[in-house]
Amino acid sequence: MAANVRVLVVGAGQMGAGIAQVAAQAGNEVLLNDRGAEFVDRGLRGIIKNLDRAVDKGKLTRDDADAALRRITPYLEWNPVEVDIAIEAASENLDVKLDIFKRLDAVTPPSAILASNTSSISITKLAAATGRPELVIGMHYMNPVPVMKLVEVIRGIATSEATYEFVRNLAVAHGKTPVEVRNFPGFVSNRILCPMLNEAIFALYEGVGSVESIDTVMKLGMNHPMGPFELADYIGLDTLLSILNVLYDGFKDSKYRPCPLLQEYVDAGWLGRKSGRGFYRYSGPGGSIERNGAAAGAFH
Ligand code: NAD
Repeated sequence: MAANVRVLVVGAGQMGAGIAQVAAQAGNEVLLNDRGAEFVDRGLRGIIKNLDRAVDKGKLTRDDADAALRRITPYLEWNPVEVDIAIEAASENLDVKLDIFKRLDAVTPPSAILASNTSSISITKLAAATGRPELVIGMHYMNPVPVMKLVEVIRGIATSEATYEFVRNLAVAHGKTPVEVRNFPGFVSNRILCPMLNEAIFALYEGVGSVESIDTVMKLGMNHPMGPFELADYIGLDTLLSILNVLYDGFKDSKYRPCPLLQEYVDAGWLGRKSGRGFYRYSGPGGSIERNGAAAGAFH
């Protein structure tokens, strides 16, 4: 199916850019939106870097990389647009997403599917902001999108079978393994992962261990490829905090309350790798961890 599917991706951050890249590589025509041209340009620069790296490693031909890039066009004006599916990957904030879903409902053909890459927000709630709840669905890619194989496909209460089938097939065409889950806060992946990351932050907050010792315990002791602080920084601490708040509000259970230290980091603008500082310090926004880079010395 994939080659002639037209996809609008809203949000050109780490996830949106990744989704645009895999869609373009699968032959989809892609429109890429963000709050302004500078954000779309930043996303495009990331895509070019990724494609170049794949060419250097011999995983992709230069012709295929160039063809993928040519399939991606910036879309900034919110004019009516002929697409088969829009995939929203903007910041993890309910009001932002509700506003985007209302806009998508207005500018896309009435038959277009409206998907969200949300990590935790109710698909049913997003669907209710549109006049087409049967065409609204969750399509939750993992980070980094070009590498990770999973897509959680989340049905809202009104999602139709045809919508589910389309999205399942699109995920396969993108080289992913779709897994169907129900619309509960955090779905499956983040309901299990985020409390673990939050617990690691509480352990740091209470002085049980340092950033590096806790990461080492989980890497060497549990065979996790990344420690919880490396992973939290990679996800983005603002995104992690938003997900935990959705779990906390959604289940009304104190076991999901975000650690105050996480809140403080986000308040400071220390959002992790994307801002250049989180639990580690980075060579710059989106850079690599600096040697001896643990930044949370005051808490152990
Ligand atoms: P990010 O901060 O890297 O990017 C978010 C982008 O959304 C930014 O470029 C921002 O400018 C843009 N944006 C904000 N408001 C907008 C608006 N009104 N219209 C258009 N664009 C807007 O965040 P991210 O990590 O790419 O996360 C995006 C979504 O993907 C979130 O819902 C997040 O929960 C989800 N997600 C994140 C991860 C992860 O590991 N980071 C994994 C899976 C899913």
